[in-house]
Amino acid sequence: MSSDFTSLDRYSRQMRVPGIGKTGQERILKSRVTLCGVGALGTVLANTLVRAGVGFIRIIDRDFIEPSNLQRQVLFDEADVTANLPKAEAAANKLRQINSGVIIESVVADINRTNIEELCKDADLILDGTDNFEVRYLINDIAVKLGKPWIYGGAVGTSGMTMTILPNETPCLRCVFEASPGPGEVGTCETAGVLGPAVQLIASMQAAEAIKILAGKRETINRELFSIDLWDNTSRRVKIARLLGKVDCPCCQRRQFQWLDGEFGAQTTSLCGRNAVQVSHRSQTKLNFVSLAAQLAVSGTVSHNRFMLKFDVEDYQFTVFPDGRAIIKGTDDVEKARVLYAKYIGH
Ligand SMILES: [Zn+2]
Repeated sequence: MSSDFTSLDRYSRQMRVPGIGKTGQERILKSRVTLCGVGALGTVLANTLVRAGVGFIRIIDRDFIEPSNLQRQVLFDEADVTANLPKAEAAANKLRQINSGVIIESVVADINRTNIEELCKDADLILDGTDNFEVRYLINDIAVKLGKPWIYGGAVGTSGMTMTILPNETPCLRCVFEASPGPGEVGTCETAGVLGPAVQLIASMQAAEAIKILAGKRETINRELFSIDLWDNTSRRVKIARLLGKVDCPCCQRRQFQWLDGEFGAQTTSLCGRNAVQVSHRSQTKLNFVSLAAQLAVSGTVSHNRFMLKFDVEDYQFTVFPDGRAIIKGTDDVEKARVLYAKYIGH
């Protein structure tokens, strides 16, 4: 048996798949991917694509690994938690051991409108491995602006959803969901929990779509919005192709990149001398304190009246207002406050 890892032979089973072949594999080997987020979806995506032989993958994540991640984030283990490694760094170490032929770049950063173009402009494909709607809408903006394919995936609780976007060829995220859910409208993994297989299934579907695109087989992609609930045993395919050009989409029809331009999304300000940060979320909807309080009660102490909601968790005190604005006391670190907001209130 030869142990030549550089030989195309390591991809022999994949090349035997009709539709990939040697030509498709050679295209995959030359491809460049930007992966936004390397948590639950992202670890499955990175693992699958590095094994499939992408040429280059840039993995971006702002978080560190915590024990509660290990239930579903398949590239990490207890030693990574003990070593206090950032997710992007720990993932890159594992991925290099899996396939030394792939160039892996790890970026420990918060993806926002100031850096997303730089992170995506040299990619053939952008993958959504985040759990954050703001980043998804930013990815949609940059993908449409630069004309690059991207694959949306999301999972929370026992269900998940995925959709493949080829700008100008299929509807974009905003053609289908014009506005992101308001803060507190959908649960987060922190408040609603998440079933490992739900994330892994969605990420595997995203990875299959990625392989098709990178192998040059765009005609085979899934052009429907797919969603599944693994607890209720229900799944749905929504035909969305007809939306392209039929809805007056601000992003792909009018080319207004409102997330990229900072018109929507969170704005953070450190409140000097108060050890607090204000996160203003420009949401079109008014927060529902009753449902938000019920979600938050699993993580900390919560109370509310008509005007504000108070929430104590870890060493932080949140004061949340009906328009989505929050003051988070206990930190003056703007980045940390954004992370806390996304974790508990939503996106
Ligand atoms: Zn659109």
